[in-house]
Amino acid sequence: MFERQKIIPTSNGKRDYYEVLGVERTATDQEIKSAYRKLALQYHPDRNPNNPDAEEKFKECSEAYAVLADGEKRALYDRFGHAGVGSAGPSGFDASNFQDLGDIFGDLFGFGDIFGGGGRRRNRAQRGADLREDLTLEFEEAVFGTESKVTVRRNETCEDCRGTGAAKGKAPVTCRSCNGQGQVRYQQGFFSIARTCPTCQGTGTVITDPCPKCKGQGRILKQRTIDAKVPAGVENGTRIRFSGLGESGTFGGPAGDLYIVLHVKEHPFFERDGNDLHCVVPVSFAQAAMGTEIRVPTLEGEHTLKIPEGTQSGATLRIKNKGVPVLNGHGKGDLFVEIHVQTPEKLTKRQRELLQELESTLAVDNKPHRRTLLGKVKDMFA
Ligand SMILES: [Zn+2]
Ligand SMILES: [Zn+2]
Repeated sequence: MFERQKIIPTSNGKRDYYEVLGVERTATDQEIKSAYRKLALQYHPDRNPNNPDAEEKFKECSEAYAVLADGEKRALYDRFGHAGVGSAGPSGFDASNFQDLGDIFGDLFGFGDIFGGGGRRRNRAQRGADLREDLTLEFEEAVFGTESKVTVRRNETCEDCRGTGAAKGKAPVTCRSCNGQGQVRYQQGFFSIARTCPTCQGTGTVITDPCPKCKGQGRILKQRTIDAKVPAGVENGTRIRFSGLGESGTFGGPAGDLYIVLHVKEHPFFERDGNDLHCVVPVSFAQAAMGTEIRVPTLEGEHTLKIPEGTQSGATLRIKNKGVPVLNGHGKGDLFVEIHVQTPEKLTKRQRELLQELESTLAVDNKPHRRTLLGKVKDMFA
């Protein structure tokens, strides 16, 4: 049996370019490009330091791509094989064909490529960091809002150099290592690879006479007291953003934001549920049975609450609009008062006699029944 084999033009042991890229001979430009992109990412020397195998593979696929991505060269290669594109020798491939490897990568991988070269100058100006501070509030402060002071330590633009980092009368000068390009090239095998300039960190300029106050950083650490206006209705964990009050940007970049995270103390008897408040008020058996009026505290002073005749223990009465204001909105929540009927624990002789007399007139069958809706809310309009 004969195996059908593809005729693959070979020369000096070089692999077929299509085979190298793992594409069909009929592959489109796009297929060739994406095949190369995949291989280049895998074998790039930056990702495989001190790995001669990977370097060899990287060279091989780059060479294949340089030929197959070029319509004329590809046509010659298709007809004459390696001999047709003058790459017959073991190192016959002319790296200068690439002109600028960085450009090819830039084209393949887009701006800010993965190899840290990028081929474009980096901007020294960067946005300042966001800051977070915590603020503890009294329960009432969270309900009604407050004005508080928060101390922050943050980097601010140096006044002496106005953030340039250069001493008075001196401006940053063009970086000599990269001639202001922000990147340097080095030889890896026979490829020239672009790298961010280590002297200027890619900015293209260096500060030769640093500002003595900020030591060329352009910013200085300062402690500031910020007036923090806290709106009514905030709750535990609410985060307030103070735009632009974070760290100053570097070299003219915009400032970051300050976030204040609120912690609200507990109230002795009010519990908060969103905008509603809850509390428990004890009443005597007689008050619950005959009905009465009691004074209950609210966050805005005392309120007269009518306990209707025959109120059961556990019943909840609602006082409208005595809750917490809606944050950044209109209206308020309600106050819910749960009634606890207190059973006397110690009776005098007289009290016992009275209760016995009462008991003889009451008819309770003591039969079990399902839980009733004890928590049922009754509206009390103020
Ligand atoms: Zn300065
Ligand atoms: Zn430089």
